[in-house]
Amino acid sequence: MAELKSFIRNVPDFPRKGIGFKDITTLLKNANAFRRAVDELCKPYREKKIDAVVGIESRGFILGAAAAYALGTAFVPARKPGKLPAETLKEEYALEYGVDAVEIHRDGIQKGMQILVVDDLLATGGTAAAAAKLVKKLGGTVIGAAFLIELSFLGGRKKLKNVPIHVLIDFPNE
Ligand code: AMP
Repeated sequence: MAELKSFIRNVPDFPRKGIGFKDITTLLKNANAFRRAVDELCKPYREKKIDAVVGIESRGFILGAAAAYALGTAFVPARKPGKLPAETLKEEYALEYGVDAVEIHRDGIQKGMQILVVDDLLATGGTAAAAAKLVKKLGGTVIGAAFLIELSFLGGRKKLKNVPIHVLIDFPNE
């Protein structure tokens, strides 16, 4: 996926020194690249039975909502604490930079639902693993996790044991 990779802008030292921030706005603002990214993200799931995409705030909303539309599934947001208005379930996790938590509406997932987790980027894996835990706690099954970008040098996949992972662009060492 060398061509898609060229649309990602690396911003050194953002939001703090030592972090190479992978900016996807440079991909999103190109109509062909955006469409291609969503198409490729959805490819392994077209024949699968999926009830909902769980998209992680906030860039996971952009790709996750587009993927849900393309796959004909529902969309359930996993948000930062305090943003969802109704009754939520919360899971804390360690981020590449800082500690955070993710919440989901308790009625967002029903028992037996087949869920695809979508985010823009897999770094240490804490965020996606927390979202997957919330899905499982509510009785859903995570059939896969799809990311536009993986920072594979951080080894985040290990936190998503038993979840098949689909990634379009790898940054193996930065
Ligand atoms: P993690 O929990 O470490 O896998 O972090 C993944 C989440 O943090 C995703 O929602 C990303 O959007 C964001 N993130 C972490 N590291 C970066 C980075 N280097 N560039 C852009 N976003 C990042």
